[in-house]
Amino acid sequence: MIRRLLIFLIAAVGTIWILRRLAAGIRGERCGQSRGAPRFEGAMVRDRICSTFLPRSRALLVRDGAEEHFFCSQACRDAYLSRHRPAR
Ligand SMILES: [Zn+2]
Repeated sequence: MIRRLLIFLIAAVGTIWILRRLAAGIRGERCGQSRGAPRFEGAMVRDRICSTFLPRSRALLVRDGAEEHFFCSQACRDAYLSRHRPAR
């Protein structure tokens, strides 16, 4: 009787373990590239046009003399340039 209970327990634990692995596999998408949590390399910078924060490595950079401005997209960069550098 006790042996049956033990076998049942082991089977139950094994099933839970397999289900957990499967669930983790579906969520975690192989190695490294998880959809949920984006990876931020380096510092965060702020787009001064739309006020979005984004990783510096993904931002578009405009140098304005000694200043550096970061933008989330071409559209924001163009908006900035049209406002601040109408001549070019
Ligand atoms: Zn933007």
